[in-house]
Amino acid sequence: KSTMIRTVFSRSLPRLCRPPACHYSAGAIPEPCSQPEVHYDKLFINNQWEDAASGKTFPTINPATGEVICQVAEADVADVDKAVKAARDAFRWGSPWRRMDASHRGLLINRLADAIERDSAYLAELETLDNGKPYAMSYTMDLPTVVKCFRYHAGWADKWEGKTIPIDGDYFCYTRHEPIGVCGQIIPWNFPLLMQAWKLAPALATGNTVVMKVAEQTPLTALYVASLIKEVGFPEGVVNILPGMGPSAGAALARHMDVDKLAFTGSTEVGHLIQQASGSSNLKKVTLELGGKSPNIILSDANMEDAVEQAHFGLFFSQGQCCCAGSRIFVQADIYDEFVERSVERARRRVVGNPFDLKTEQGPQVDQEQFNKILGYISSGKREGAKLMCGGGVAADRGYFIQPTVFGDVQDNMTIAREEIFGPVMQIMKFKTLEEVVTRANDTKYGLAAGVFTKDIDKASYVSNGLRAGTVCSEPSQQRLVHLIQHHDYKDTTSICNL
Ligand code: NAP
Repeated sequence: KSTMIRTVFSRSLPRLCRPPACHYSAGAIPEPCSQPEVHYDKLFINNQWEDAASGKTFPTINPATGEVICQVAEADVADVDKAVKAARDAFRWGSPWRRMDASHRGLLINRLADAIERDSAYLAELETLDNGKPYAMSYTMDLPTVVKCFRYHAGWADKWEGKTIPIDGDYFCYTRHEPIGVCGQIIPWNFPLLMQAWKLAPALATGNTVVMKVAEQTPLTALYVASLIKEVGFPEGVVNILPGMGPSAGAALARHMDVDKLAFTGSTEVGHLIQQASGSSNLKKVTLELGGKSPNIILSDANMEDAVEQAHFGLFFSQGQCCCAGSRIFVQADIYDEFVERSVERARRRVVGNPFDLKTEQGPQVDQEQFNKILGYISSGKREGAKLMCGGGVAADRGYFIQPTVFGDVQDNMTIAREEIFGPVMQIMKFKTLEEVVTRANDTKYGLAAGVFTKDIDKASYVSNGLRAGTVCSEPSQQRLVHLIQHHDYKDTTSICNL
C-alpha cells in the first residue's frame, strides 16, 4: 500500500521538477484572492461543528505577514474523548458505515475528490494563506495530487481481495480483509491537504473510522475538507477533525485506550513519543512517517544543467520544508567547483516573496519557531567552518522569509550535515569514489530517501543498491528511475503505510 501511495506522489514530481525558474503558465492558473474567507474554525465531530469543551481557541497565523488570520477552536482531552466515541459509534457492528457496500465507500471518496476539485482554487488560496507556500504550487501541485490520491484509493475500496489457502485436512481456509477500527491520525503542516489525503483516503477506502489531529500551524484547509466530507454524504462520526496542540490533543489520541491504530507523520522526535504512548496504553498499531536527511549524489558524468536544477528543486521545493529534501548533496571532486558555482547562481535567481504572486518560487517559512530554528542552523554552519556561498539571512522585513542559502565545503560531522534543517539551506560536500560516497551517504540516523545523478545506468544501479533508504531516485537518462525499496523494520521511517 505504501508503495502505491509513494508512486502516486512520485509520479507527480518529475513533471514539476523539469522546468526552470518561472515555469507556470499564468493563463492556466486562476487569479488568486489573497484574503480568502475562512468558513470553518471549530472542531468537526459527528458531522457537527463544535467549540472546544474548554472554550479555548488559538490563533492561526499568516506566515507571510505574521498577522493572525483567525482564532480556531483548540481540542484537548475531553474533545478527543468525544471524537473517539463518535468514531467508535460510527464503527459499531451494523452501523450505516459498517453495512455500506465497499463500492459505495469508493463512490463517496470519489465524490469527495470531485468536491475538492470543484473548490481547488479556493482551497489553494486557503492553503497558501495558512502555510505560506506559493499559490502557484498549491494550485498546480498540491490540489491535483490530493484529488488523485482520493481517486486512486476510491478505486481500491472494492478490490481488497482475500485468499483461499489450501491447508491440510478437510477445511476451507480463507482470509477476509477487515478494517482495523478507529484510526487516530496526526499530521504535520508542510503539506496540510496532501498529508490529510494520504491519511484519510486509504483509511476510508478500507472501511475504518478516523479521528485526525491536524497541525496547529495549518488547520484551515483540513476543516474546509471536513465540510466537504459532510456535504458528499459520509455518515456521522466516520471522520472527525480536531485542530489542537500536539502535547495535549495529539498525545491524548496517541495514548487513547479506544483507538485501534495511530498513523503519524512528523518529526522523528515526536515519533518516539507516539511509539511509547502505544506501548504504555493499549499497544495500538502504529505507523510512522518521520524525518530525513537525504543524500543526493551527483557523479561527474551527470548532465550538469539538469543536476543543478534538480538538486535545486530537490532542496528548495516547499521552502525546504520537505521530508524527502535532498539536503546532503555529494558532488564528485572533478565537477565540484562548477556544480557549486552554478548552484549558487541558481539559488541567487530564486524568486522569494509574496506567495500569492505567480512568479514567486519561495514563500515564507511556516512560523516563527521554524524561522528561528533555521537561522540557528545557518549560524552553526558558519561557526563550524562551512563556507557560506550565498544567502544566510532574513529575506524580508516582516513575515518568516529566509534567503535561499548555499553552504560549500561542508564536512560530514557538521551539525548542518547531520540534522534535518527543514528550510532553504543547501549543504554541498565533495567525494572521490563510489564506495566512499555510499558509505558516507549511509552514515545517518535517517533512511527516508536518496537520489543519484549519472548518465551511466550501471553506476546508477550500483549506487542505488548500496543506499540504505526507503526510496531512491536516479537519473541515468531522460527516463527517471524510481526505486521503491521497502525495508520493513529498517530504521524509523521506511516501513511506511498511511492508514
Ligand atoms: P512534529 O513537531 O513532530 O509535529 C507533527 C504533528 O505531531 C503535529 O500535528 C504536532 O502537533 C503533533 N505533535 C507534537 N507533539 C506531539 C506529542 N507529544 N504527541 C502527539 N502529537 C504531537 O513535526 P512538524 O514539525 O510538524 O513536521 C515536520 C517533520 O515532519 C519533519 O521532521 C519532516 O521530515 C516530517 N515529515 C515527514 C513526512 C514523511 O512522509 N516521512 C512528511 C512530512 C513531514 P502541533 O501541531 O501542536 O505541533
